[in-house]
Amino acid sequence: MARRPSNPIYHTREWREATRWAKTHLPPICHWCGEPIDMRLSGRNKWGATVDHLKPVRTHPELAYVRANLQLAHNSCNAKRTLAIHDGVESASRGVKVRTSRVW
Ligand SMILES: [Zn+2]
Repeated sequence: MARRPSNPIYHTREWREATRWAKTHLPPICHWCGEPIDMRLSGRNKWGATVDHLKPVRTHPELAYVRANLQLAHNSCNAKRTLAIHDGVESASRGVKVRTSRVW
């Protein structure tokens, strides 16, 4: 299950303002699946809008509130992507090489 983000950047006034700006100014399209987002849905709804960072805050904390780094995404798409990143980091730390499914 997706957990609430614990990063302190999400508990600031700057973040609230950044999300409000993103939800009113960015096109309501999920940047992961490319499907429209129904902005009337709550952010807790699976298909509701969440504000996502193009460059992750974990690696680019200085871009946390930079508007150019903000994108909208479905709640579920954003959660899936977060899991995928964690898997990737975990694999990398174990020294597992990523294999492509294709022979180049
Ligand atoms: Zn999506």
